[in-house]
Amino acid sequence: MSASNIFGAVFFAALALATVTRLWLAARHVRHVSAHRARVPEAFAYEISLDSHQKAADYTCAKTRFAMAEIAFDAGVLLLLTFGGVLQALHEVSALALLEGVGRGLLLLVLVGALMTALEMPFGIYRTFVIETRFGFNKMTPALYALDFAKSIALALAFGLPLGAIVLWLMARAGEYWWLYAWLTWVAFNVFMVAVYPTWIAPLFNRFSPMQDPELKERVEKLMARCGFRVKGLMVMDGSRRTTHGNAYFTGFGTSKRIVFFDTLLARLNPGEVEAVLAHELGHFKLRHVVKRMAWLAAASLAFLWLLGWVMQQPWFYAGLNVQSPSTAMALVLFAIVLPQFTILLQPVGALLSRRHEFEADRYAAENASARDLVSALIKLYRDNAATLTPDPLHSMFYDSHPPAVARIARLKTA
Ligand SMILES: [Zn+2]
Repeated sequence: MSASNIFGAVFFAALALATVTRLWLAARHVRHVSAHRARVPEAFAYEISLDSHQKAADYTCAKTRFAMAEIAFDAGVLLLLTFGGVLQALHEVSALALLEGVGRGLLLLVLVGALMTALEMPFGIYRTFVIETRFGFNKMTPALYALDFAKSIALALAFGLPLGAIVLWLMARAGEYWWLYAWLTWVAFNVFMVAVYPTWIAPLFNRFSPMQDPELKERVEKLMARCGFRVKGLMVMDGSRRTTHGNAYFTGFGTSKRIVFFDTLLARLNPGEVEAVLAHELGHFKLRHVVKRMAWLAAASLAFLWLLGWVMQQPWFYAGLNVQSPSTAMALVLFAIVLPQFTILLQPVGALLSRRHEFEADRYAAENASARDLVSALIKLYRDNAATLTPDPLHSMFYDSHPPAVARIARLKTA
């Protein structure tokens, strides 16, 4: 067997294994949630009605079953792109245009991106207008959905094309250490995006207004003073334009740093609960979770770019995936297809670290605000977002960025 045949077989096996694992976990999740549908877990018996519990079970199962269809579909798409010869065909289309070098490479990236976006589109539409609507969460009109979609495409082109052009140029011209320069570009790009997101990008999709409620504002400002945290913007976002799901988040850094509350969250929580949720978010910041995450991602991307630098010089990397025309752009595309089949192994590690951070942020919130308020806020959020209280343990261990409600609340109650 030639090196390219071996590599093709390894890719196929990894894709098959990753797909089967994902499907198996999803099937377990549906089974487990369905099996616990009849009874509200003991710890929530007083706060969550059987009706809400069953809605959460049905919503979780509907979402998970649909995700299974998407997992299977995606695997089929990757097989068609590679062994089915679609990527080679797209290369030939891009070669028809009278472009050379970076221009031709960019065209290939755009073609692949357009194809993937078109294939993903029906799934997104179904999720929003069928599943979210059925459970009463969706607030989007088709017109708003189309407008959001158009804006996302425009943004992807506005930021993606220059970034792609720089990376392709570095790959072609920067010599042996191109991956190091590409990494520096990537890190700078990410920092840039984090810095401009709150002020340039988020306002394209939502309206932000300073928090008005004087009582809440005072509480929040006191909390921040207590935690030694300075931030200028305390914003409320009109999340209710799209969904009834509620949330709160931190964004930006330096002068663009702000705290954003969804209007849907403020409508449901009392001031004490809002303060507790904010204290949890402050905890993430104070305990440097955000910086740690970014550092991990940066380190991983350096390793991956180095690896890309090596595999793109190997003829088997292209031939094994049924591509006869090696190029820098093709290397990027193939790498983006192959890598996730292996990094799925990192998923549970990332989820574990994230859950650890959630516990730490909860502890911070318990120390700086009220643990009892955080518990009641969490219960409201679980109930109103129809999040399941009874996830399959393995599914949860593999994917969940947040600890299961039962474990989280049990810890807060002893805090
Ligand atoms: Zn958190």
